Amino acid sequence: MKHELPKLSYGYDALEPYIDAKTMEIHHTKHHQAYIDKLNAALEKYPELQDMAVEDLLKNLDSLKVEDADRNAIRNHGGGHVNHSLFWKLLDPSNQKDESLIAEINSTFGSVDDFKKQFTDAATKVFGSGWAWLVKDQSGKLMIYETGRQDSPYLKGYTPIIGLDVWEHAYYLKYQNRRPEYIENWWKAFKLI
Ligand code: MN
Repeated sequence: MKHELPKLSYGYDALEPYIDAKTMEIHHTKHHQAYIDKLNAALEKYPELQDMAVEDLLKNLDSLKVEDADRNAIRNHGGGHVNHSLFWKLLDPSNQKDESLIAEINSTFGSVDDFKKQFTDAATKVFGSGWAWLVKDQSGKLMIYETGRQDSPYLKGYTPIIGLDVWEHAYYLKYQNRRPEYIENWWKAFKLI
């Protein structure tokens, strides 16, 4: 089975004015779709891998019996697919506060505000294209983490909980080079904590 673009459960304009409709539409239908198309292309030669969840492909990347170029494509485009699928869910405007996540954040970082400051700082400092994350490590401990390009936390065995896309394609139309302003407004669209 081929991987497919997940439908958004909300409209492209649902996150206005924080994230504009045009950016959402291009980000979903062009950028995310391109990762999926290239992931499917990389898996074409390997029918036995086509039904594996992307998360499992990434967790087991080093042991997949594939050519190196294909391994690299699965890392980049499988990462792009799984990262964006989570990103859309996290921004669903119907999301309610997640009290158990808030409690875990409070006990790990002191407060939601302290966590947001540290996460914002990490996201601001990602060099070039990449992501800022809140992940759970193998022992279940929360930590802030960053990745370059489309690398997924699953590559290191971490489970992504919150992910912020800081590629310019996520904000350039509205914010141009002003990544800090995008991050500040992304928090306003984010309802889970
Ligand atoms: Mn993106």
